[in-house]
Amino acid sequence: MLEIKNLHANINGKEIIKGLSLTVNAGEIHAIMGPNGAGKSTLSSVLTGNPAFTVTEGQVTFNGKNLLELSPEDRSREGIFLSFQYPVEIPGVSMVNFMRTAVNEHRKYKNLDPISATDFLRLMREKKELVEMDNKLANRSVNEGFSGGEKKRNEIFQMAMLNPLLSILDETDSGLDIDALRIVANGVNKLKSPDNASIVITHYQRLLDYIIPDFVHVLYDGRIVKSGGKELAYELEERGYDWIKKEVEEAA
Ligand code: ADP
Ligand code: MG
Ligand code: MG
Repeated sequence: MLEIKNLHANINGKEIIKGLSLTVNAGEIHAIMGPNGAGKSTLSSVLTGNPAFTVTEGQVTFNGKNLLELSPEDRSREGIFLSFQYPVEIPGVSMVNFMRTAVNEHRKYKNLDPISATDFLRLMREKKELVEMDNKLANRSVNEGFSGGEKKRNEIFQMAMLNPLLSILDETDSGLDIDALRIVANGVNKLKSPDNASIVITHYQRLLDYIIPDFVHVLYDGRIVKSGGKELAYELEERGYDWIKKEVEEAA
């Protein structure tokens, strides 16, 4: 589904991603862990097309297409969903209208007609139940006055509505409380299917108590320096990141 080869990216001339390679297949959950400043959030920004970052080398293909040539909007329409660490508030725009517009934009990209009112309401109902969102939240303006947990639930709801092929969840610095972690984890687990994949970016192991990753990768100094199964997350929790640094320095 996603193939990243020897990716290099910089911001303001400073190289942050320094030869990163990663393959994600349908049906897989990948966790990316790593110390602060390793480049985890930069990676998600580059994958979703944040124009602040410049790719200088390497390839990224998504379902056979050159991802780097696509606009951020088209990346989303191709099926990439990025969770936002700081979701925007859109006062005056109800969740219902916001979601209908988003769903229809995705449909238009696939040459489908706008969703009928009945089908849209059915979809809303189904996904609200899936993420256990109450009607009050769904009828309010997007994120306006939402608590941290409500924003998180809203985000997972948006993800459920758009049914992405690849979801990228960057939770690193967002200081999620345990309830918000559970909301995110339940959402990811319930939406998991053989057709989709997730990349869960996290500094701490605790999110992985709720989401069982198929693969765990350590991102250090702009590269994936170690990959393993879920046991690697526990090892990092126990031993921290210093031993990774030593291994990388010894190998250099
Ligand atoms: P992580 O998510 O792993 O903590 P980031 O991707 O946020 O790491 O940051 C990686 C490096 O890129 C850090 O050294 C950070 O200071 C730098 N960086 C991130 N954003 C910017 C920016 N807008 N301008 C300059 N440097 C940045
Ligand atoms: Mg950080
Ligand atoms: Mg980060």
